[in-house]
Amino acid sequence: MAEESHSTIKLKPATFHRLQDFAASVGRPAAELAEEAIDRFLSEQQDLQWKPSSELEALSSRELSQDGAALQSMSSQQIKFMRQQSLVPLYIAEPIIGIVDGLLQGDHSVAEVLRKGNLGLGTLNGLDGEVVVLDGVAYHQGAEGVKVLTGSERTPFMSVTLFSKARSKQVELSPVGDLQGLEGQLKGHFRSTNVVYALLIEGSFLYVKSRAVCKQEGSVRLKDVAGSQVVREHTDESGVLVGFWCPPFVGSNLNVPGFHFHFLSADRQRGGHVLQLRMEQGTGWLQEIHRAQVDLPFRGDFLDSALLTSQASADLRAAEQDRS
Ligand SMILES: [Zn+2]
Repeated sequence: MAEESHSTIKLKPATFHRLQDFAASVGRPAAELAEEAIDRFLSEQQDLQWKPSSELEALSSRELSQDGAALQSMSSQQIKFMRQQSLVPLYIAEPIIGIVDGLLQGDHSVAEVLRKGNLGLGTLNGLDGEVVVLDGVAYHQGAEGVKVLTGSERTPFMSVTLFSKARSKQVELSPVGDLQGLEGQLKGHFRSTNVVYALLIEGSFLYVKSRAVCKQEGSVRLKDVAGSQVVREHTDESGVLVGFWCPPFVGSNLNVPGFHFHFLSADRQRGGHVLQLRMEQGTGWLQEIHRAQVDLPFRGDFLDSALLTSQASADLRAAEQDRS
């Protein structure tokens, strides 16, 4: 009898456990995820204008039962997709230590960064305002308000990932009186604080205090720019928080350590780097991330600088948090 094109293979125990582990990270049945993974990867590759491989197009087998035991006989293509699912990277266009130390002119365009992910945050060259990326669109929150970026702008620091709600753990959040309360609640849903989480929260907010840094001329260290920022207070807003949790060993030099959120109102007109909030109601999506990709600049000021890595943690803490 001729072998069928969608013949299945027996998984090695390590692979099987890894797939189960990924399913546990999002709190859903593994077999169901395997089924969805194929469709999602096809559509995401289209969104990001990647060329689907012929292997992908030839994919035909979808015969999975709904119990976890079906994983034991997944096709090799399905295993490949599941592995890719769990290894979507956090992408960092230039390590944050650069702007902490006053290197404010980055090489990466916003369009280049958007090819790496559809959700994230950052700033523009000269520390010009706050950037939030939602559904593949980059919004700039500057001194004058919110606008959509064209893609040609340059950034010294942005961080994005390929986010999807289906790849995330969904959690209902109770009302919180401050940002720390929200962070504590989210942490309670983490499997581990030693991995990265991409975070999306849709909610109604009684109060959001946000800031946008004003564009700087020349080289200014991050801790010295707090005097030139616009702080706004919003009340009774519905909107989203886009953010990351980075373990301290990933943050500090590559990214902001701990939690980092930018707010965008539901009408996309207001927002900024979140300093404080009170949330009435919210739903959160937590996407666990086990891989990072960092682009280190080629330009001379970066290559020649003696970056003060031991200072970065304290400087970031001072710059990113509310001082009032
Ligand atoms: Zn920020």
